Amino acid sequence: MINYDKYQEEKFKKWEDACKCCGACCGTVDGDPCLHLIKQNNGKHFCEIYNARLGMRKTRSGKIFRCVEIRDIINKHWPGSNNCVYKIF
Ligand code: SF4
Ligand code: SF4
Repeated sequence: MINYDKYQEEKFKKWEDACKCCGACCGTVDGDPCLHLIKQNNGKHFCEIYNARLGMRKTRSGKIFRCVEIRDIINKHWPGSNNCVYKIF
């Protein structure tokens, strides 16, 4: 019998691991990314407050925006969204 919690954990990890960490959904393409987006030496990005990310945030130029879960914007367009792995799935 499948352990449901384990199944959910595996699915969660699979979806999290699928992200290319391009940072497009956090503003890297239009050049005004979120203040919490950190670029690593390997070119990938990560959110320094990922577990508490949702809500009102600020870009480097001072624009206020709402950080939302990817599932809430998957049917919308944002700069660079054509390369988002979740749109290709
Ligand atoms: S707070 Fe949201 S928009 Fe900002 S870096 Fe984290 S995930 Fe991206
Ligand atoms: S645009 Fe898609 S692939 Fe790129 S960081 Fe955001 S969720 Fe991940």
